[in-house]
Amino acid sequence: MQKNEMAVIEITDIGVNGEGIGKHDGYTLFVKDAVIGDKAEVKVMKAKKNYGYARLMRVLEPSADRVEPRCAFARKCGGCQIQEMSYERQLAFKEQKVRGNLERLGGFDGEMLDQVMEPILGMDNPFGYRNKAQFPFGTDREGNPVTGFYAGRTHDIIANTDCALGVPVDREILEIILDFMKSEGISAYDEKTGKGLIRHVLIRYGFTTKEIMVCLVINGRKIPGAEKLIEKLTAISGMTSITISPNTRQTNVIMGDTYEVLWGQGFITDYIGTVRYQISPLSFYQVNPVQTEKLYSQALEYAGLKGGETVWDLYCGIGTISLFLAEKAGQVYGVEIVPQAIEDARKNARINRISNAEFFVGKAEEVLPEYYEDYAREHSGARARADVIVVDPPRKGCDQALLETIVKMAPERVVYVSCDPATLARDLKVLCGEGYALEKVRPVDMFPQTVHVETVVLLSYRK
Ligand code: SAH
Repeated sequence: MQKNEMAVIEITDIGVNGEGIGKHDGYTLFVKDAVIGDKAEVKVMKAKKNYGYARLMRVLEPSADRVEPRCAFARKCGGCQIQEMSYERQLAFKEQKVRGNLERLGGFDGEMLDQVMEPILGMDNPFGYRNKAQFPFGTDREGNPVTGFYAGRTHDIIANTDCALGVPVDREILEIILDFMKSEGISAYDEKTGKGLIRHVLIRYGFTTKEIMVCLVINGRKIPGAEKLIEKLTAISGMTSITISPNTRQTNVIMGDTYEVLWGQGFITDYIGTVRYQISPLSFYQVNPVQTEKLYSQALEYAGLKGGETVWDLYCGIGTISLFLAEKAGQVYGVEIVPQAIEDARKNARINRISNAEFFVGKAEEVLPEYYEDYAREHSGARARADVIVVDPPRKGCDQALLETIVKMAPERVVYVSCDPATLARDLKVLCGEGYALEKVRPVDMFPQTVHVETVVLLSYRK
């Protein structure tokens, strides 16, 4: 096919990014926003030898799985990819995504997967679930400040203060900031020139405590007239923390390295289950609290703690999983690369009067191997051991050096929490080649309306 050619096709499959896939005379077309089951008119935008990318021009016969999107910007916005797909279909797609990766990249047998895969845990209400949002600021053609989200694959801002995944107070806060910028003549940052002050705002909302954090990321050190902004923001009930985070670098990294309190405290608190967590602007904290509780409960169940066990929680963030497990374990060790997160983790242990959790700052792939070597040196060659090791790495998965040390320590159980099924499959292949068996796989939908899927896996050591 050629660029700009039109075609009518049936959408028969879903790609990894949620796009529809169909064939025209044997030629494969990837169509963003098309839903599996649609009959649609499409226009070829980019033609390669064996496949091409097409734009959805018109849905001729909608799929039974097609729904009206809740948000007017669902198609353009880079935040949601599959809002036009029914929630049931989204869940089935995610289950299949995990399964497909385990088969293709992990080399696991299909029949065996039938035995170990548990149904995905979805949400009753798959909207308004985010406790955190980061909105970029920019300037429209008329010179007015705008905020919203980036259009897919670009840094063009779609003006929208009413994201369907966020909480209602997001909108109130964004409107206050925009009004303040207009009335005080404060500019939005411009990525191209590196000029302008306001870059992003980070908003966090404690679902249980109703506490609110606002952190403005600025290209400078001060916001002129900030007291006027503070006066408006503090009128919102629940406002707990107003901070700035200076970031003067010309990069895609949103937050600065530090933050400064303008009003209130530098953190908010929230609960997952009965554990109370203190969360500061720069620390990672799970964004979907309803599903996080399900995720951690599943991890806890897989850990199979009876009391007395030694547990490592690698990539522990502010110690959320560590503290969740500490209630049932003998001793928990957490490892995390961000120093502020470890400060939060230690504070969180204290707040909850948990004394059997210890935290280390550093790379998991350095801290654990060093611990292992030191232990052997200090105990005349004896092996450091653990009963359970939990890992919850970022998308790139675990480092090889870490996997090797896990194998050497030979814990009875490994619980792998993953936000990327491809790297999960890769790492499981390594562990299962070294004496571990895949026991259980549970996908959890932490990010409805997007193509992302979280998975919890239980591995057990075969002696
Ligand atoms: N388990 C936590 C955090 C998971 S997110 C929770 O559920 O909240 C992954 C975490 O890994 C982040 O906090 C990130 O800062 C941290 N991280 C990234 N690379 C790391 C590395 N090489 N070693 C240790 N931690 C790392």
